[in-house]
Amino acid sequence: MMNTTALVIANNKNKKAQLVNHLSATGLFKQIKPLESSAALFQHLKSKRADMVCWAIEGKSKKADWISKLHSDEQWHDLPLIAFAEDQKGLINGFHLGASDSVRVEIDPTELSVRMNRHLERWQRLLELRQSKERLQEMALTDPLTKLGNRATFDMNIKQAAACTQRSGSPYSLLMIDLDHFKNFNDNYGHQTGDSVLRSVADVIRSSARDADICCRYGGEEFAVILPDTQANNAEVLAERIHKQVAKVSRKQPSGRIPITVSIGISCSDRQSDLHPTQLIEEADQALYWAKGNGRNRTETWRQSSITSNAQFSFHSAPQLAFGA
Ligand code: GH3
Ligand code: MG
Ligand code: MG
Repeated sequence: MMNTTALVIANNKNKKAQLVNHLSATGLFKQIKPLESSAALFQHLKSKRADMVCWAIEGKSKKADWISKLHSDEQWHDLPLIAFAEDQKGLINGFHLGASDSVRVEIDPTELSVRMNRHLERWQRLLELRQSKERLQEMALTDPLTKLGNRATFDMNIKQAAACTQRSGSPYSLLMIDLDHFKNFNDNYGHQTGDSVLRSVADVIRSSARDADICCRYGGEEFAVILPDTQANNAEVLAERIHKQVAKVSRKQPSGRIPITVSIGISCSDRQSDLHPTQLIEEADQALYWAKGNGRNRTETWRQSSITSNAQFSFHSAPQLAFGA
């Protein structure tokens, strides 16, 4: 293992030096760092690598705060913690106080080496498992084509935004974005080109939104952006930015290509702080259909007052309407 690091804690200077010598003789560690205090331990763990903590224990030692703190920390909970005792009482106390292993200070050097090696192997394996768990979690929440959040991310975050709004009273908004006449793209230039258009639009959405906004691929050629703590007029500002940037991408296409445009539907929870996410989604969807019906490449915001003026675009029968090319 590269850069394997052991940290050493002991109240007594001589004991500290003795532990450092023992550990050094195993040849297992690239770095052995004696610590001045338990505060120095957490200072180290904040930003640097650690593979083991070795500590000099006595029969009467009590559970120190730093041990409880390590054990209650998700990241460091399983870090090998080795107690070095002068006598059997200390050795047993080590286990009582939560050490992963407890050994005598005068342990045979070969035995120390194989024991510590086993702890390091287990720690390394745990780090690898943790990494693969993180990768899997990431994959489960990401759309592979666009690298935006997927539908699961959307569902999770809209619930969270709704809960936040209910607590704070500050509204959140939702953008539903659908590519216009996208079927034509696939039909004319093939799915590969279609996919690359989807990626470009996803990049536009990501770079136009703020860090706090959650950008997702809702499905097919439809995207959604959740804007926590945002009024409708600010959601409209984002929609305008997206239209502008998509137009830029469209102009960069090879000449003669069908222009890329999107239609956007916005809904905001500003009328009612306990508005259910399902209703917000339905309204944004409805506004999106209005945008399609009103000529595409535009944004409509759901408002009670807009329902009558858009009555000719019936949301629920929209799939049968001849909006297509
Ligand atoms: P409208 O302006 O009314 O939205 O028209 P449209 O053609 O975009 O709508 P329609 O729902 O008829 O077609 C959506 C198309 O999106 C059909 C489907 O082939 C395409 N599509 C969905 N997902 C993907 C994808 O992952 N890759 C590619 N290349 N195309 C996709
Ligand atoms: Mg479409
Ligand atoms: Mg669609």
